[in-house]
Order: sequence, then C-alpha cells, then structure tokens
Amino acid sequence: MCKPMIKLKNRFWLCLCLGLFSASALADFKVFQEALNATQTEKAKLLLVQETEPEVANWGVIDQGRFHHQKGLVLEINDQIEAAKQAFTQAIEIYEKDGTPNEHWVSSLFDRSYMDYLLTNDPKVYCPDRKAAVAVARKLGEAKALARALVRLAFCYQEGVEGFKIGLQVLDEAARIAQENQLAGSMTGMIHNATANLYRSKNIHDKAYEYYAKAYQAWALQGLKEDVQDMFNMLHNMVAESIKTGAWEQADGHVNQLFQMAEEHPDFRDFTFFAFYNQAQVTYAQNQFLPAIESIEMAQELADTTPETYFVKVLKGLRVVAYFRLGEFNTAAEYVAEAKQEIGDQASLQELLTKLQVVEAHQAGEYGQALSHLWSLLDQAAQSKHEFVKNAVALESVTFDQKIIPFQQQALADQLTIQQLELEKQTKQSQINQLELDKQIKENKINQLILTLISIGLLGLLLAFWLVYRSRHKYLDLSRTDPLTKIANRRHIMALGHQALKRSQEQKQAFYLAIIDIDNFKQINDQYGHVMGDQVIKAVVQVLRQHAEGGPLLGRIGGEEFVLMGPNSSFDVFSQLLDAARTHVAGLQIAMSEQTVGVTISGGYVGASSSADTLEGLMSLADDALYQAKAAGKNQMVLASRD
Ligand code: GH3
Ligand code: MG
Ligand code: MG
Repeated sequence: MCKPMIKLKNRFWLCLCLGLFSASALADFKVFQEALNATQTEKAKLLLVQETEPEVANWGVIDQGRFHHQKGLVLEINDQIEAAKQAFTQAIEIYEKDGTPNEHWVSSLFDRSYMDYLLTNDPKVYCPDRKAAVAVARKLGEAKALARALVRLAFCYQEGVEGFKIGLQVLDEAARIAQENQLAGSMTGMIHNATANLYRSKNIHDKAYEYYAKAYQAWALQGLKEDVQDMFNMLHNMVAESIKTGAWEQADGHVNQLFQMAEEHPDFRDFTFFAFYNQAQVTYAQNQFLPAIESIEMAQELADTTPETYFVKVLKGLRVVAYFRLGEFNTAAEYVAEAKQEIGDQASLQELLTKLQVVEAHQAGEYGQALSHLWSLLDQAAQSKHEFVKNAVALESVTFDQKIIPFQQQALADQLTIQQLELEKQTKQSQINQLELDKQIKENKINQLILTLISIGLLGLLLAFWLVYRSRHKYLDLSRTDPLTKIANRRHIMALGHQALKRSQEQKQAFYLAIIDIDNFKQINDQYGHVMGDQVIKAVVQVLRQHAEGGPLLGRIGGEEFVLMGPNSSFDVFSQLLDAARTHVAGLQIAMSEQTVGVTISGGYVGASSSADTLEGLMSLADDALYQAKAAGKNQMVLASRD
C-alpha cells in the first residue's frame, strides 16, 4: 500500500498513489475513504476527490451520498464554502430520493446548515436543515444522532417567549436521551452551550455567561483535541457576555485566554483573528477607540484565515464607527461605503448598519438625517429593553436550572468513569487550575469588596469619632465656659489655676493672682435693670481680656467677680497690668437704649512666695486685699499683706 506522502511538492508520489488507487480501487466509498485518509494535505485530498468523481455514478446510492458528503467536507476545509454547500445538497438530494433514514443523511443536513451559518449567520437560513435533521434522526432511532440533532435544533429557537420555551423543551429531551444512553459526557458541553444561547437570545446575559462557562468547563474536562475549537468558541462567547454585563476584568481575562489558545494551537488558523476580534470588542465597548482600531486592523490582516465572514463584516463596520467616535470623520467616511455594502444584506447587523448611516449622513452634512438615524438607534435600544421586560422568562430559567442539575451530576459521574486515569488527572488538573483561577478572581473580588467595606467602615468610624469628639469638645467647652462672658467659669479657672501654680512652683517662676470685683454693681442692677447689668459685666470682661491677652488666665468666679492669675515676669508688670485695666474700665461709658453708665472695679492681689502656697490660700489673701480696696473707697488695686 502506498505510504502517505509527507509533502505535496512531491507530485510524482502523488500521481503514483492516485494511479495505484484508480487501478484497483475507488470501486466504492470505503476504498475512496481509505485513499482519502492516506492523503496528507488538504489540496491533495481535493485532487483525489476530483479524480474520483467520474467513477461515482457507478456506486451504490448510499455510497454516492457519502461521496458527496465527503466532498463537501474536503471543500469546506479548503475554504470553498459555497461549493461545499452544493456538495452537501447533492448528498441530501440523493438520500431524500432514496428515502431510507441513515446517519449520513443527518450529518449532511447538519453540515449544510453549518455552511449556511457561515454564509449568513441567520437562523432563518440555517435552521430548516436542523429541523429536517431531527426528523430523520427520529426515524433512524439512533440515540446519539437524535440527541445531537436536538441540541443543534435548540439553537434555532431564539425568538419570543414561545421560542425560548420550545428551546428549553428540546434541550430537555436531548438531556434525557443523553442520560438514558450514557452520552452525557460528550453532550454536556453541547447542551450547556445551547442553553447559553437561549439565554443570550433573551438578553439574560449573566445566565448566558454562566452556561457558556459551564460548557467550557465540560469540554475542558474532556481534555480532547477535538474539543479545542468548542472551548475557544465558548471563551469567545464569554467575552461577549462579559461585555454585556460590563465585567471588564473578566472580559480581559478571557481575551488573554483566547490569545493563549491561539499560541498553543497554531493549527487552528483563525484563533488569532478571533483573539484580536474580541480584544477589539472589549476595548470598543469601553470607548477606548484607538486601541480598538489597532485590534480591528490586526484582525483584518488575518481576515483570510477565517471562513466566518460574518465577523469580518462586523469588524469592517466597527472600524468605521470607531474612527468616527474618535473624531476622525474623514477616515471614517473613507471606509463607510465599502462597509455598508458588505453589511447591507446581513439581517443580524442592522444596528451596525444604522450607525454607518449616521456616519454617512454626517459626512454629507445632513445633520438632521444623522440625528434621525441616531434616534432610531435609541428606539431600537428601548424596544429591546421592552421586549426583555415583557418576555419575563426569569421564571422559566429557574425551572430549567432545576431540570438540568441532575443531568449535570450524571454527566460528571460518567466522565469520571469513562476517562483513563492519566487523562483524568490531566483534565482534573486543568479544571482545578481553572477553578483555582476562578477562586482567585472571586477572592480578588471579595478582597476588593472587603477593602471597600473596610474603607467605608473606616470612614464611618472616623466620622463617628469626629462627631463624638466634636460633641464632646462642644460639651466640654460648654462645661468650662461661662455662658454670659465666654471666659472660663469658676470650676475651670480653678482647675487651670492649680496646674499653672504647680508648674510655676516647679519651674520656680513668679506667680501672681488677683481677684477683681465690680464696684456698686447691685446699684447698677437696681438702677438700670439686669440686662444693663449683664452688659456692664460683658464690657468689664472685654477690658480685662484685652489686658490679660497673652499673659494671665482670666475666669469668672462669681456674679461680678473675676480672677486673673498666672506666671509673670515681675510684680511690677502684673500691678501695672491691673492698674491699666482698672483705669481703662473707669473710662468706659457703657451704652444701652439711649442710656449710658460708668463703672469702676476694685481688686486685691497677691504673689506666691513659696512652694507651700496653695491656690485657695492665695485667693483668700487676695480676697482680704479686695475687701481692703473696697473699704478704702473702691476703684483701686490693693496688694495683700502677708502677715
Ligand atoms: P460692692 O461695690 O461692695 O461690690 O457692692 P455690690 O453692689 O457690687 O455688692 P455685691 O457684690 O454684694 O452685689 C453683687 C450683685 O451682683 C448681686 C447679684 O444680684 C448681682 N449679680 C450677680 N450675678 C449677676 C449677673 O450675672 N447679672 C446681673 N445683672 N447681676 C448679677
Ligand atoms: Mg461688687
Ligand atoms: Mg461681689
């Protein structure tokens, strides 16, 4: 048997191989399939298909169908999507004519549906084949085929509450079949993915994200090479759902995972395109237009690597809008026509098209038109919000959650028993890593939350402290201050006096104390009333304050009695201060309601002479001296005698 060739450039070997096959084989599909498997490159496979085609008319009906199906697959891998679709159609027509259900008929329907998906991304176009596939699979009675067909069909019910319900029922049936036939392992990812899509179509984005993540986990747990594409797709969807819910860090994390997968799997040619595509979407959604444009242009350079033209179109439109929003109107205008033309026929891109119409109208100077397009965007947004509220599918989603839980458990159990130990360890590790990552993300979030709470708590505590401090302070102030004169009251001035005397004695400083009393105050009260009396007290205090400023402490110790005391440089300075204050008061004319009143003060004062002096003792001496001053005719300051 001819060995598979390593490189296509060895045309000689290729021809020789084909020659060998065409001599004896290609009599039926099986031989063709073997030859195809033995062929290494996609181009060589295409050649083999073309070489074989003339023989096929002589094969049996089923084999003919299988050939065209296989031809479609080869064309698809060679990026000839339209031709692939035609080949699948040929296969389907052959099976339809024959009428006997078989699994290849089901597959051909799926594959044609997938081509339609690639070409249009429109469920209306690609869903009829999925319905047909379910019908054929039901007749066939093959559990796996039916379960798969049902899951794929579930993607098609994206419209209205009814659609959502039917979608859930379809998935429910698929889950039941999978469970009964122990297919759960391979079906878990698909069912979760389909569930996510249903939620997405109803704008329930957090649920959608949750199920895409579950699907990702399910495929990651399988740890199979064939699941890499599905895992990548789930990440792609998780980015979109993260954007919808404004979970930017999460979105960034998944974009990084996409780039990482692209690096790890260079054989998946369009992974890098999609990594950039998603990076563009995440930055654009955050109004970071410059980085968005950079990512878009990186992706556009890789547009040839993907058959998913829908996303290429999206980027064309997005670039225009990003430039426009950046304020680069001319650049936006330069690309708008081309983008509009490509997007024009895409039903699911009408919103983007409207944005392009805004750009166009703006460029043409038709601002009214531009505004009206913008308004229609607003209307669309309001409309979808209304629909979201109206749908009220939250209740449905709860019921479905309950239904899916036992299935999930079964699926997990199956997977664990099916897999070999080594594989299990590996996949578990990757799941653990993922869980670890999730845990970390969650922990980070919790930490952030705690930090926020702590800082809020601290702020609150500070505020509380401040309030308590302020009220305490206020209260203290109140308890220490004489309300009429705002100077220290008796209790406070005595406390201050004790401290000051003690300090002076310790530092061996001179300390003087005077008691001052307003002369004939009773008379003022009697003659002018208490209100005038109060005014007189205030006026006297003001003078005393003025003379005591920066020096002795001043306090009110009785109705119209005050104390002045403190360390002072010398006896002379203190007695001069007292006399100046006395003279000052004597010169006052206190006015109130067209009346004026004069007033005098008398005082007795004393200096501490030893460390044995107490405040009370000094006050008593000063009081005696004050009595002498009064007796001697008032309006004078008398020094206490110490014997
Ligand atoms: P002297 O010259 O001997 O000191 O005579 P005096 O009239 O001042 O006599 P005394 O010190 O006995 O009188 C104090 C009066 O001050 C008695 C009290 O009614 C009055 N008084 C005490 N506190 C206040 C106050 O806050 N406001 C007013 N308007 N009067 C007060
Ligand atoms: Mg008096
Ligand atoms: Mg008095």
